[in-house]
Parts: sequence; C-alpha cells; structure tokens
Amino acid sequence: MITSFISHQDCTLHNMGPWHPESPHRLTAIDERLRRSGLMQELLQYKARPVTPEQLFRVHPKAHVRSLELSVPEDGVVAIEDETLLCPHSLEAATMAAGAVIRGTEQVLKNQADNVFCAVRPPGHHAERVESMGFCFYNNVAVGVEHAIQNFGVQRVAVLDFDVHHANGTVDIFKGREDVLVCSSFQHPFYPWRYADSEWDNILNTPLDAGAGGLDFRRAIEAQWLPALQMHRPDIIFISAGFDAHQEDPMGELNLLEDDYYWITQLICDVAKTYSQGRVVSVLEGGYELDALARSVEKHVQALAGL
Ligand SMILES: [Zn+2]
Repeated sequence: MITSFISHQDCTLHNMGPWHPESPHRLTAIDERLRRSGLMQELLQYKARPVTPEQLFRVHPKAHVRSLELSVPEDGVVAIEDETLLCPHSLEAATMAAGAVIRGTEQVLKNQADNVFCAVRPPGHHAERVESMGFCFYNNVAVGVEHAIQNFGVQRVAVLDFDVHHANGTVDIFKGREDVLVCSSFQHPFYPWRYADSEWDNILNTPLDAGAGGLDFRRAIEAQWLPALQMHRPDIIFISAGFDAHQEDPMGELNLLEDDYYWITQLICDVAKTYSQGRVVSVLEGGYELDALARSVEKHVQALAGL
C-alpha cells in the first residue's frame, strides 16, 4: 500500500494558550513518534498547500469566512466560543489544514497514493456551515468531500467519524444529502449537545455510553456501519480520525485502546478495497493525551499502510 502523510509546519502556528488541550504539541508528538518508530520512512511525505477561497466557499459561505477573518486579533487571543480561540496565525493554520485534505483527496483520486493521513490542526468536525465551535473553524473533511464531488465527479462519499465527540459540523453540512453518508460514533450524552438525534436518512449516529470500551465499540460499528456502507457503496471514504475516545484521554470517558484504532482502520480499508478502489483520506480531529494520541496515530497509520 502507498500511504501518503500530509502536514505543514504552519499548522503549529495556531496557539490558543499554554493551558489549552488543542495545542501545537499534538502534531509534534505524532511526528516524533512516527519518526522514532521508523514508520515515517514507509510513507510518502508531502507538505500541504493552502486551501483556495473557492474550495472553502463550497462549505462555508463567503460572509462567514470573511467575518472570521475580521475577528483575527493583531496580538493575543480572541474567543469565538467558550474555548475556541483565534490567535493572529490561527487562520493560516486552518487554511493549511483544509488544504491538506484537498491535496490528499487529489492524490487518491489521481492514483498517486492508495490512502492518506492528514496530520493537521485546528480540527474540523465541529465546524458547522456558519458556526465555528469546539476548537474548529473550517470543516476540513467537508472541504475534501466537496472537492471530490465537484472537481472529480465522484458520485458517492462516506465520512466515518470515530472521535469521542459527535460530528455535528459534518452533519450540519451534509444532512439530507443522498450522495454523502455520514457515520459518527460518540459518547452520549456529551458535548456538542446537538444533532445527536438524526432525522435524516444519510446520517448514522452511533451513541456510546460513558465507560464503553473496545468490545462495545466494535460490536456497534459492525452492527451499524457495515450494513450502511454496503448499501451506500462509496467511491471514496473520508475518516474524521479523532483519538480522544482513548482510555487515557482526559476529555472523554470512553475506553478505547490503540488496538481498537488499528481494528477500525483495517475494517475501513477492507470496505474501501471492496467498494472504493481502496481510496481512504483520513484527517486528524481530536486526541489530547499526547502519548496516547501518538501511539494511536501510529497504529492507525500502520493499518492504513497495510503493515
Ligand atoms: Zn473530540
């Protein structure tokens, strides 16, 4: 398998303060772990390019993007929502994060890579069409999905989200769309306290009780996601890869382990081989315990690379 690893130094410029869990250290921890283990050498490494305004406006209206740009402070930080803060360089990072997904989408659709992992921040899956929240400004995965559909004529897409938090932003953007299946597993009840009840045929919510572990997770995914994916037969699969459902993560109360991330990644790759010519674009979302995050990403990328 040819697995591409896409990131950019500018993604570390977004800094909401030394106390904030969504910190630049997350990317450093991942990078160090993959280099030390030798896994990075097995991957094709690329730098992200910035998303263009046109690519961004397919997901977030111009007026919303403009108002975010006007909110960027000259120094210090400004709060958009409780713990979602802009620093002077936040949107440079967000532009690279979304641009990484554009580049990854192009690589798999042009057969330059079998699959891709985008090591980016700020994350994206809480970003709704006209609302920034939950540490997210631009919905990175949604930008990639629209690029696949609008630039490459892809007919059917699946977005699979195993972050501990519900993918409210991705649901907000794609609700009611026949061409995009969104599956989200998440601790419930929990932040973001919205969209957990699905009224749309293309949205598959998989709530998990606090305390649920790997076995509960695997049973729910097999019972709910597999039949939906077999029905939808996606041409390409996007993963919102959050690792904050890990047992050691301070944010959530689920008890997944690295092996569970290896398991679900292999499962997704198998589905992709059957329906999607192996095409998988995986994008980092949450994951806040640095060591557990780095170990989980290592397992995830190992599975993507077929190792
Ligand atoms: Zn999360």
